[in-house]
Amino acid sequence: MSFPRKNTLNSVPLLRTQDLCRDFPSGGFRGKSTRIVDNVNIEVHSGEIVGIVGESGSGKTTLARCCLRLLEPTSGYVYFDGQDLASIRPASLRIKRREFQMIFQDPYASLNPAMTVEEILLEPLQVHKMNLLENTDAYLHELLSAVSLDTTLIKRRPGELSGGQQQRVGIARGLALKPRLLIADEPVAALDVSVQAQILNLLADLKKQYTFTLILISHSLYVIHYLCDRVSVMYRGRIVEEAPATAFFNEPKHPYSRILLDSMPMLDAPEQMQPITHRHINALVSNNRSCCVFHEHCPQAFSICKEQIPSFKETGPGEKVACFLYL
Ligand code: SF4
Repeated sequence: MSFPRKNTLNSVPLLRTQDLCRDFPSGGFRGKSTRIVDNVNIEVHSGEIVGIVGESGSGKTTLARCCLRLLEPTSGYVYFDGQDLASIRPASLRIKRREFQMIFQDPYASLNPAMTVEEILLEPLQVHKMNLLENTDAYLHELLSAVSLDTTLIKRRPGELSGGQQQRVGIARGLALKPRLLIADEPVAALDVSVQAQILNLLADLKKQYTFTLILISHSLYVIHYLCDRVSVMYRGRIVEEAPATAFFNEPKHPYSRILLDSMPMLDAPEQMQPITHRHINALVSNNRSCCVFHEHCPQAFSICKEQIPSFKETGPGEKVACFLYL
């Protein structure tokens, strides 16, 4: 097996969402729903690692699942390589799924405990009815070596592996179909800090060697800082800022981004980093969405912030902010 080598950025986004929304029934009143993803427009280009950061409940995972059509959007569009995924027939979508894969947060929960590593890594090929390779051993060997796993583990089951080894198997399974897009949903959140660093190093190494486009979802600014080319900040279902990682970490523009960065100054000391939680931003907010959703906590809010939704304005090369301070 060989992976395609890394390309330069292409002007056509590999993934693009347009006005993407996802509602969930909120219970109680009949027909009432809560908007979890709210008019999200993102673009991800081939070869990029894009981080989506936000506190728990900000809608990051729901957005990721809508992008892969693991969840149907309530409205809006998802374009993969220019093709509207909603317009693809189910049979074609199954084939298309080879091109986008997900790495899950909890490696143990995402792996079938009854299967061996070998069976787990061959399963995607079988599910997608791809011809098993002539030399299966060489295929497995290359896949395992890509994630720095010893081939002696091939007959083990997930319960016989450490957390870090389980996540390496999860990453290898994600790579098995040679996808063009990987979405990693909190890939190190369930691991010990020492193991987190190993997995981040692994992803960084894979980024250098192979062409895969990665969307990294994390509540940890350290993880985003370590790996990502670009950053999108999500708050209450909306993207409130996006920027190249260097610009973002040097000079975040949105007041929410600044609060996040100010609360986490130790970017070179991951063991001292805290996840973004409601300790930083009080979760008690109103359901009014015809406004800036951050206005109740924003130290710079003014009257218009409570009355109108700020548009997502370009503020510099590759930088956009949804805030009336940047009109
Ligand atoms: Fe603060 Fe207003 Fe900007 Fe929202 S739009 S972040 S409330 S200044």
